[in-house]
Amino acid sequence: MSSPEEQQRAPALCKECDSVYTVRILAGGEIEPIGTTACSCGSEEFEVVD
Ligand SMILES: [Zn+2]
Repeated sequence: MSSPEEQQRAPALCKECDSVYTVRILAGGEIEPIGTTACSCGSEEFEVVD
């Protein structure tokens, strides 16, 4: 009986094409798009929108 680790989610923009994705923020500050591994443009770099 362990509670699931709470994952922080945020909108983020692809650094290449400015597409908006929802990402989860991992411990350590890495961000990972939800439901995909990369943007449709091929970039794997995202920037969280504040
Ligand atoms: Zn992109």
